[in-house]
Amino acid sequence: MSRLATLCALALTLVLAACASTPRPATPPAAVVVLVSIDGFRPDYLDRGVTPVLSGLAAQGARGTMRPSFPTKTFPNHYTLVTGLRPDHHGIVENTFEDPAIPGVTFKMSNRAAVGEARWWDQATPIWVSAERAGIITAPMFWPGSEAPIRGVRPSLWRPFDQAMPPSARVDQVLAWLDRPPAERPRFVTLYFDDVDTAGHDFGPESAEVNAAAARVDAALGRFTAGLQARGVAANLVIVADHGMAPIAPDRLLYIEDIIPKDAARSLSGGAFMTLYPVKGREAEVEKLLLGRRPHLECWRNADIPTRFRYGMNPRVAPIFCLPETGWSLRNKDYKPRKPERGNHGFDNSSPEMRAVFVASGPAFRGGVTLPTFDNVDVYPLLARLIGVQPESNDGDLDELRAALR
Ligand SMILES: [Zn+2]
Repeated sequence: MSRLATLCALALTLVLAACASTPRPATPPAAVVVLVSIDGFRPDYLDRGVTPVLSGLAAQGARGTMRPSFPTKTFPNHYTLVTGLRPDHHGIVENTFEDPAIPGVTFKMSNRAAVGEARWWDQATPIWVSAERAGIITAPMFWPGSEAPIRGVRPSLWRPFDQAMPPSARVDQVLAWLDRPPAERPRFVTLYFDDVDTAGHDFGPESAEVNAAAARVDAALGRFTAGLQARGVAANLVIVADHGMAPIAPDRLLYIEDIIPKDAARSLSGGAFMTLYPVKGREAEVEKLLLGRRPHLECWRNADIPTRFRYGMNPRVAPIFCLPETGWSLRNKDYKPRKPERGNHGFDNSSPEMRAVFVASGPAFRGGVTLPTFDNVDVYPLLARLIGVQPESNDGDLDELRAALR
């Protein structure tokens, strides 16, 4: 060996020794995966000049427009986002529904006991259950389903839903979880903000109040990203909405009693759609009067709901489903809203007004990407990839989002 080669070999040995003496993991610590839901946030809200943080994240990363699943309601779509399944497949078929196998109980968002019972959620396995089973600590903050021990597994960290908790306090709770010692720190967290949806219902999607709510949530997101930065936490942020918002008006209102007798059927929910349970023995009468198309309204038996909605086969779907034209409402005459209603969702999921925002930013994502419109079932395989868990069988397709990934 020449003298030069000997020196080189010695130098290489020293370099390797230096490397070996510095303790560090073989791979850098995986980034935290953060799933944020801004309830009722439409993609066009990003371009109103009121969301500097969110619009900045979209510019640095990927943005897109999601088609929600049908029906375009909060609980069904939140569960779709974390399971990759359509509501017909995951069983949370509406915000308010019944199950022939669970007689005498109505599942609804305000029924706190039911929301915390696994039997309503057990038709699917949300991503945090798969992660916990793989030994990954999860912390879904206010995500529908997070209060129930689904398939026997609860997230390591969670809190019962409290609508009065301000956005900044929700952010601070998640940051506090990320301050835990490394071995107890969550690798998957969620955040949920309801202000934009509430303002959309009360004042309509084009209102100054919606813009103000979007600005408040944006400020909370700014507090969150600053908190991550101050802690040196690398995070992949996936920011979504469950559905959009359509303007509604008192002159676009239909009454069910104008079509069928008041005592012929029971309705569980009304507004952007109505679910109906004909009284025993009066099924044929109700069907004859109701089924089919009329101006601004169409009604089907659950088994006959058009296939493009991919809805109606789950035994939890009501026997009759009536869907008004987007922007119209179907109500019972005795329905009394607490305040005037100017916006709603629940309509046809192909309506542009029902589209939901998607923004992804962080080390896993490319910058400056605008994705073509995709279905919200595709978010689940993305989350599984980011967290590093094997996805359960699902209705989504990661290929729809691959252009956003590095
Ligand atoms: Zn919602």
